[in-house]
Amino acid sequence: MPSPISSPVAPLPSPAAVAVLPAARLAYVIRHFRLSYAEVPNVRIGYAAAQPEISIKDGAGVFFTQTLPYPPAPNQREWLGKQVPFFFDSSPDAPLLELEPGHAIINADIISAAFYLLSGWQEYYSDTRDRHGRFPYAASVQAQYGFVALPVVNYYFDVLKTAVEHVTGQRLRARAWPAGARFAAFISHDIDNLHSAWKGPVKAALKRGQLLQFGTMMCRHLTQPDAWDNLEAVAAATAAYGAQSTFFILPEHRPGANGTPNADYGLSPQLKNRLLALRQQGGELGLHGSIGTATEARRLTQELQKLRMEPQGLRFHYLRWEPRHTPALVDAIGFAYDSTLAFAEHFGFRHSYCLPFFPFDFASGAAHHFLEIPLNVMDATLHHPSYLQLRPEEILPALQPMLAEIERFGGVATVLWHNENFDPANNKNGPQQFAQLMSYLQQHGTAFLTGTEICQAFRN
Ligand SMILES: [Zn+2]
Repeated sequence: MPSPISSPVAPLPSPAAVAVLPAARLAYVIRHFRLSYAEVPNVRIGYAAAQPEISIKDGAGVFFTQTLPYPPAPNQREWLGKQVPFFFDSSPDAPLLELEPGHAIINADIISAAFYLLSGWQEYYSDTRDRHGRFPYAASVQAQYGFVALPVVNYYFDVLKTAVEHVTGQRLRARAWPAGARFAAFISHDIDNLHSAWKGPVKAALKRGQLLQFGTMMCRHLTQPDAWDNLEAVAAATAAYGAQSTFFILPEHRPGANGTPNADYGLSPQLKNRLLALRQQGGELGLHGSIGTATEARRLTQELQKLRMEPQGLRFHYLRWEPRHTPALVDAIGFAYDSTLAFAEHFGFRHSYCLPFFPFDFASGAAHHFLEIPLNVMDATLHHPSYLQLRPEEILPALQPMLAEIERFGGVATVLWHNENFDPANNKNGPQQFAQLMSYLQQHGTAFLTGTEICQAFRN
């Protein structure tokens, strides 16, 4: 079940009151359309008044001059064998696509619909946040209309692709990933805990009154390494599939202002040496911004300095993200990429898109500079009292349709598996379930890439 929705922890900053003009929406969407294919020939795409070669029927009316979070209900149309929701579809009886010599008409406003989803309009203008200050899945159009595991914007782009191919007579290919792979996978680990594996079983033994067992466990805890102090084993588990791990390190061990825990470890010289060694073996290190840093640039900068890191990759602890504040802060510090944007409550596509994208800046009406590599699946989402409670054998079958969508559109499958869930004692969302997911990705010929490699591939 999703987390209960409550009032935001702190007052939300006001949203920008700038109307997003049609030209800005069109430019933002077309830029991402061009980024999602290998080469797109020059062809004029726009609304009918400009008489372009590919003409889109305007269906947004005054929606983008207002600040309502939700548009009218979408119209369902079939595309590539799937029922796809089309927002701003003002002519539901007209065919989606009309192909004429040298000209194409798209009768649903896929530019407005793609902009609405890709820009995160709903969460920017909605005031609803959960107890961690996050926009909740339950408040999303993805939950309301049931399409969280469908990358709807990629379907819209496929409609546009068909129109471009018709008008130009050239076939469009999906963008290329290294070694000719059809899609990429980004395997990451948020390092929240290194020393706490012993706590759960010890507490349970004490509660059951099993004092002998309690004594044995305490003795083991005091004399042996903790099962979660396993970064090298995590790297090895990932390397077994020819992949490199990206580790997001949490440099704050004091709890957040609301008592939410941060790291259970400090950055000792010994740990720093181990992290360095992991990097030398090809792993990547990124910053796991602690509670509160998603809205405090000064503290986020301090955490980078603690790690002595350049602002490269970032993911916020608890997937904290305030859409009215965080993107500008990530840009101002100069991070190359972020990989926070998922719904904690459900795997899938928070922005209905399966490729990295440049988040929209509502204040300037253009794109931000950092690349968002959206997160698709987090281990905790799959089995957690607040989220889904899939049985171990249900996990891969549940994820397969989503992974197939990513493969179909040449996207990136971003996986977050915490190091603590490599504990052999975890048989719910543990090392075996991770291995099944990795086998699937490997068998489907993915290119395993780190966040930085994805940035490089994407910016070239
Ligand atoms: Zn975390």
